[in-house]
Amino acid sequence: MVINKRFYTLLLSAIVLAGLLATSLIGYFGAKDSLSERLQQEMLPLTSDNIYSEIQRDLLQPLLISSLMANDVFVFDWVNDGEKDASKMISYLGQIQKKYNTITAFFISENSRLYYHPTGVLKKVSESGQEDHWYFEAKNSPHPYTINIDRDTADHKRLSIFVNYRIEDKSGKFIGIIGVGLSLQTVVELIENYQKRYGREIYFVNRQGDVMLQSSQYSPELHLQNKDGLDKAFLQILTSPSASFSFRAKNGSTLYINSRLVPEFDWYLIVEQVNDPSSARIERAFIINMAVALVISIIVLLLAHLALRNYHGKLETMATQDKLTGAASRQVFELYFKQAVARCERRGEALSLVLMDIDLFKHINDTYGHQAGDRVLTRIAQLIKSHIRAEDIICRWGGEEFLLLLTGCNLEDAKHITETIRAAVAGLEFHFNNDVIKITISAGLAEMQQGESLAQVVEHADHRLYQAKHAGRNCIRPDIATEV
Ligand code: GH3
Ligand code: MG
Ligand code: MG
Repeated sequence: MVINKRFYTLLLSAIVLAGLLATSLIGYFGAKDSLSERLQQEMLPLTSDNIYSEIQRDLLQPLLISSLMANDVFVFDWVNDGEKDASKMISYLGQIQKKYNTITAFFISENSRLYYHPTGVLKKVSESGQEDHWYFEAKNSPHPYTINIDRDTADHKRLSIFVNYRIEDKSGKFIGIIGVGLSLQTVVELIENYQKRYGREIYFVNRQGDVMLQSSQYSPELHLQNKDGLDKAFLQILTSPSASFSFRAKNGSTLYINSRLVPEFDWYLIVEQVNDPSSARIERAFIINMAVALVISIIVLLLAHLALRNYHGKLETMATQDKLTGAASRQVFELYFKQAVARCERRGEALSLVLMDIDLFKHINDTYGHQAGDRVLTRIAQLIKSHIRAEDIICRWGGEEFLLLLTGCNLEDAKHITETIRAAVAGLEFHFNNDVIKITISAGLAEMQQGESLAQVVEHADHRLYQAKHAGRNCIRPDIATEV
């Protein structure tokens, strides 16, 4: 019984815990999955889109200015005149720069290859110079303009975006490149703003994987391949126009990457996020969930344990006690008998057994009904209990038979107790249907002899009870006067 109880409590614990753990885990992984999917499929691409559209917006104005310059009659006339007065071009460029608030304005003549700038003629571009490469690229481009990001010829520290517009005359002859430059500051500010707001790292890499632009500093030394965790992913980034993926970095954190090619710059815009902050929230929620689950489990188990114990107690009582009279049931009597025998042997005491039977009980039932019979049984059991000691046992042996186990009593003592009970029962009055009824009992006694079994002593007592009945009932055998 005890093993069973423990087993059921444990089983219940396991089921409740497993159930709560499973739902918590499913919720946790579900939330994590949907978060990382949202991050990859929506949030990072959205950041990327926003930055890209800002860049496009920023580029609109310089493109328009450059296009105006490329179609300006003054430029054509001045070149056709043979670039005679450089100061005219220089002041023209100065006016443009001032009027549109660009960081630079420039013109390179194909004829002279001279680089005109608001501050003067800076240099002569040459095909062999690596830094003049952009000019020849723009010249040979099939498009009306190219966009180039480079250090400013006038200020080498500054990284600028140049719009290089091709000038062609009416016959389609290439005259030179004209355009304006604008600072990358707005892009950098945008990057910093996003970094601050979302804890995302945003930077640009060129097609080779060199980091070209990131927050406030320009780090041409840094290569995508050398960025922590990106060593394996960099090829994936550089070989597709856009990609969105996540992977585990060496330090165990999860890295979410979104990359997109910005064709105007020919750079990749990379939005990177390490361990989304809301993932910490999900983890916290999971821990709280688990704690709640644990508390609930403990409460459920405690309640289950109490219920089980209560239920067990009830079952035990049901099995060991007669419901009507509260006397011990016949099933457990043998156990009580053995305990009593052992106790009396240990103490060297006598042990007596009394079998009591209500006289003509059938008549009560037949005349006043079964319920009246039950009342009699209950009342008599009560009375017997009040005449024996706590360690004596009263057992409902049969329908209207009680078996008493009197410890520390020899036959003489038992006779006195039984006689007292008999007399007390005979003195009771029962009121049924205005009748006053007297009930009597008969009893057979036996003192337990060395080595006797329960069956033997009971048989002995039963025999005496039969004698009592035969003698006319309402008496005990052996009688109080009888010497045994
Ligand atoms: P005797 O003096 O010879 O013992 O006569 P008796 O009528 O008492 O003997 P008998 O054994 O013929 O009848 C016993 C009756 O007890 C029969 C049965 O219906 C009744 N009885 C047994 N158990 C219960 C019980 O739990 N409640 C009630 N009301 N009656 C019971
Ligand atoms: Mg009987
Ligand atoms: Mg009877």
